[in-house]
Amino acid sequence: MAVEIEQFMCRTDNFGVLVHDPASGQTAIIDAPEEGPILVALKRTGWTPTMILTTHHHADHVEANLALKERFKLRIVGPEAEKAKIPGIDETVEEGSVLHLGDERIEVIATPGHTAGHVSYHLPGSKVAFTADTLFALGCGRLFECKPPVMYESLKKLAALPAETTVYCGHEYTLANARFALSVDPTNSALRERAARIEALRVEGKPTLPTTIGEELSTNPFLRWHDPAIRKHLGMEKAGDAEVFAEIRKRKDNF
Ligand code: ZN
Ligand code: FE
Repeated sequence: MAVEIEQFMCRTDNFGVLVHDPASGQTAIIDAPEEGPILVALKRTGWTPTMILTTHHHADHVEANLALKERFKLRIVGPEAEKAKIPGIDETVEEGSVLHLGDERIEVIATPGHTAGHVSYHLPGSKVAFTADTLFALGCGRLFECKPPVMYESLKKLAALPAETTVYCGHEYTLANARFALSVDPTNSALRERAARIEALRVEGKPTLPTTIGEELSTNPFLRWHDPAIRKHLGMEKAGDAEVFAEIRKRKDNF
């Protein structure tokens, strides 16, 4: 049986996410940006959390760790490489680690780039991935602790997940990302249609997430380093994929 997922806003533009395995009754919280909205979501669903799955150490992803641990006596899981910076951490994971939510298998994918220890969580049985600040809808995270080739390798791993995988991200940045995406890939009709849909959703105050790997492959310039039209637009027809990625990331930083 697939997991059930509750997504909601925290802080200004962070997403909070609850993942519930109906068979076992277990619930995981993906990152803990803010206690209040997480408590409201738990009340709304009636779910009791058993663990927090931390993606990376930034304050907007771990701020409610200790408060939630105190309240629910839950287990906090996070990347080994960032354990010193993750409040209340009980258990560490790295590339290839496997966790379980009931019988649901959770595979850990190391996705450094935004931070040096960032991990993503993939539930192959439910075809869902939580990529936090590595892969965004139409974007990717800023490179605070790593060079572009590191993020490129991380994104390549996520791009290789099944196209039908549903993807939940750390932030509602999609509208700004769409504007940038159109600046490097202006002739992509799938992107133009998606940008229009995103504008309409935001006008109504609705979230643009989750997305899917397939949708990102056809519209997200940070996964389209191979695309001839983007390469031509950048004047990088003969460059390596990682170089194209680095150029797109640099342009976004200055956009
Ligand atoms: Zn972050
Ligand atoms: Fe963040």
